[in-house]
Amino acid sequence: MASIRVELFINNQDVPGRSYLVVKDPGRLSDRVGELAQADGSQVDEAVRAAHRAFHTWRDTPLPQRVALLQAAAALLDAQASTVAELMALESGMLIATCRQEVHTAAHIVRDNAGMAIDFLTPQVIEDDTSWVGIEKRPMGVVAGIVSWNAPVVLTMRKLAPALACGNTIVIKPSPSAALGLSLLLRRFAALFPSGVINVVHGDADVGTALTTHPLVRKVSFTGGGKVASAIMRNAAETMKNVQFELGGNDPAIVLDDADPDEVMPRIAQAAFRRAGQFCFAIKRVYLPASRYDLFFDRLRAEVDRLQVGHPLDKRANMGPMNNRAQWQFVKDLVQRTRDAGTEVLELGEVLDAEDWSQGYYLRPMLVRHPEPNADIVLVEQFGPVLPVVAYRHESEAIRMANQTELGLGSSVWSRDRERALAVARQLESGMGFINQAAASRLGQRHMPFGGVKQSGIGRESSEVGMAEYVEYQAINYSK
Ligand code: NAD
Repeated sequence: MASIRVELFINNQDVPGRSYLVVKDPGRLSDRVGELAQADGSQVDEAVRAAHRAFHTWRDTPLPQRVALLQAAAALLDAQASTVAELMALESGMLIATCRQEVHTAAHIVRDNAGMAIDFLTPQVIEDDTSWVGIEKRPMGVVAGIVSWNAPVVLTMRKLAPALACGNTIVIKPSPSAALGLSLLLRRFAALFPSGVINVVHGDADVGTALTTHPLVRKVSFTGGGKVASAIMRNAAETMKNVQFELGGNDPAIVLDDADPDEVMPRIAQAAFRRAGQFCFAIKRVYLPASRYDLFFDRLRAEVDRLQVGHPLDKRANMGPMNNRAQWQFVKDLVQRTRDAGTEVLELGEVLDAEDWSQGYYLRPMLVRHPEPNADIVLVEQFGPVLPVVAYRHESEAIRMANQTELGLGSSVWSRDRERALAVARQLESGMGFINQAAASRLGQRHMPFGGVKQSGIGRESSEVGMAEYVEYQAINYSK
């Protein structure tokens, strides 16, 4: 694929950057994928002002028209999925099939939001003999959407679709590690809408700071890590912006002793090693009953050993590289510390192409046998293909260990007994609980408020609860 250059996108026009970032393929570092324009503070200001001007007409655009445009945009995403998947795979390290699927999932998200907007935005009226009370939902203004790299289109659409449906305009800042494909999609997407409704700026912390301190930005919706979220919260405080955070997780999977190893272990392996473990609600630690530990562990090991690690465009691969050097090094150091403490780490799977291996951020899938329950490998979000497997003696002990971190995004319970599993799930400190699976079904994607408790976030995305993040309530009381 020829190297491409992607510019900033402000007021429905390409705007050259002040400088350009060279994007390389994390699966073959000798290959240059493209160049990404980098904005400075004045260009961020230009983008926010364009969004602010557009807000005044977009909020008055009749709701059925806004909904129809979002429906058209969802169809465009579906139509573009195959075209953009290769570029997304090359820049991010995600497998090409995963990228294609991601764009279709993003289209579903846009449709879900378009579908619920009319009911959600219908004003509520309450009346008695003395007064009339109207509760109406108004857009907030300019939203800044800042996203991470590990599901760039889905994470962006979870913000953009409800924001636009409710009448807000938006400035998106993608992650520099997965911006090219997303930006090309956003250009086509934005062309369907009036100028300035969707704007895209590129850069890292400097551009993020310019956005989150801009006085005309009313809301910051952020997906990424906790450290950056704290900085955003401090920056946003100055002008009292509304913030919403979707942050990291360290999701526990508790396997109860009645579970069937052949049924649950393949699903747990899939939920832990998909995207090489680089997604927020991946299973990041497993708790097995001590009485059946070896049986479950061996079944999991067999499953993980079937993974084939290779370049994102290699159709044989079912696990790709890490997205970036910092994360790759972080996981390697974590594994080294685990080994230094005398804990066994099994390196599994198959390396598809040894030549690529030395040229990319590759790791084999790894299982950690019997780590100390309080070891870093258990308590820290690894965000990579290494899974600690801890033994527990009683269910209450498993619940206590699962709840001992400051993260609380998702959790899962695995059992043949629905009531028993539900009883455990209700005691886990997480925003989302899964039973006998670790990803939402289509029904779940539409209706589950997505997000975490404790330091995994503030607020929720998806469903009507997620849409409520993009409105201000105005209550009017008329005296009869
Ligand atoms: P990150 O926090 O390093 O970066 C996220 C985004 O913030 C990027 O676009 C980055 O350029 C930008 N940024 C960096 N400094 C900034 C600043 N000072 N002000 C404003 N923006 C700034 O995270 P990452 O490495 O891209 O993503 C990995 C993390 O994201 C993991 O912890 C993962 O669990 C989490 N995540 C959470 C969810 C969720 O929905 N809960 C989804 C995906 C990823």
